[in-house]
Amino acid sequence: MSIATAEDFLSETDRQRVSAAIRAAEMRTSGEIRVHLEDHIEDDVLDHAAFVFEELDMHKTKDRNGVLIYVSVSDRKVAVIGDKGINERVPENFWNDVLAVLRAHFAAGSRADGICEAVAMVGEKLLAFHPHQRDDSDELSNDVSIGTR
Ligand code: CA
Ligand code: CA
Repeated sequence: MSIATAEDFLSETDRQRVSAAIRAAEMRTSGEIRVHLEDHIEDDVLDHAAFVFEELDMHKTKDRNGVLIYVSVSDRKVAVIGDKGINERVPENFWNDVLAVLRAHFAAGSRADGICEAVAMVGEKLLAFHPHQRDDSDELSNDVSIGTR
């Protein structure tokens, strides 16, 4: 099955599952996880994900602990990037296992499962550095965002 657009990548039910996975992960960490889908990009996926990160105001969390899972669906390009509250403390290959899980699931056609699992993995990683706080607030939307470019 070919993947046409970011809009079609996840069904409405799938998107709700992903939002629920984000909500569940954020019950355990103060970090903020977002999932953003786009159709296609020309640029380097990591550079572009960094651009999207700023566009979504993800650099404005109190503890600089937002993490973006970015997917360019027609190119099957994926990136996971964390804000400086995370990236300053972790090895460069910190997110590689998350990327591997995403790629494996996408190759198998299980998109929602892949994203939900990636969200859970990111949540587990965030825990160590940013445990959930009693006064935590939901700083960034848990909804999947779709880029129109
Ligand atoms: Ca939070
Ligand atoms: Ca959130």
